[in-house]
Amino acid sequence: MPELPDVIAYVECLRRVAVGRVIRRVQIISTFVLRTFDPTTDDLEGRTVLAVERLGKRFIFGCEGEIFAVIHLMIAGRFRWLAPEARAPGKIALATVAFDHGTLALTEASPKKRASLHVVQGREALAAFDSGGLDVLAASTAAFRERLTRGNHTLKRALTDPGLFDGIGNAYSDEILHAAQLSPIKLTDRLTDEEIDRLFAAAQATLSRWIAELRVMFADRFPGPGDVTAFREGFAVHGRFGLPCPACTAPVQRIRYADHETNYCPKCQTGGTILADRSLSRLLKGDWPRTLEELEGGA
Ligand SMILES: [Zn+2]
Repeated sequence: MPELPDVIAYVECLRRVAVGRVIRRVQIISTFVLRTFDPTTDDLEGRTVLAVERLGKRFIFGCEGEIFAVIHLMIAGRFRWLAPEARAPGKIALATVAFDHGTLALTEASPKKRASLHVVQGREALAAFDSGGLDVLAASTAAFRERLTRGNHTLKRALTDPGLFDGIGNAYSDEILHAAQLSPIKLTDRLTDEEIDRLFAAAQATLSRWIAELRVMFADRFPGPGDVTAFREGFAVHGRFGLPCPACTAPVQRIRYADHETNYCPKCQTGGTILADRSLSRLLKGDWPRTLEELEGGA
């Protein structure tokens, strides 16, 4: 699931290829991807793309006449930019949008087709897609604190709740918690003011750092296969089970629950304690939404 830094990188690349360009043809290859029927995708054809924005983890293509194409990549959805005559990648292509200078393909390399495309008319219809998560980079400390302590959850769950915070998922929550030196299973009502401040600073620093890194990485090219990923070289703990923590060299640990894995450093984050996988799984599972759609803010 692309998170805030990857979503921002995509938005900036999509703006470069699509804004000011006329959509020539929209082809739906996997019918399940299209979740609306009015306006139709034919209604997009011949219109200029005026803006590409994001709404949480969704991509919004704003076209002439206030028609919006709303795309949610879910777990395995990705964008590909193809040369004008290139064929869309077989089997994984869900839809293509052809411009004169190239074609944008929406792909999903997974047997579970979860990525979605909605075509809606007017700003009011667009507002329905807003999960309401707080943009941490633009937020005040007070707003961050209010969101964090709104319910009593594990830190892992609170950070990844799209209704509380915008664009933070499994990967960046691990990285933020490591930077803040806080345990993923600490409950939000047990946090001291100092810990909340530390978490806020860590969230801003971690997201800003990776937004800047990806901006450099994709400054002059559109992300290709494997470029948008939850596993990055340079991550401290996420996806690094058993590897040395870059801060203290202790081996990174994991908690497995549902389909997820949380990674943490016992020395930096849990006072040296290796959390028992099974009981924690239960705790995190109980604090976790039952469906992926709920976890990711809807399809
Ligand atoms: Zn460490």
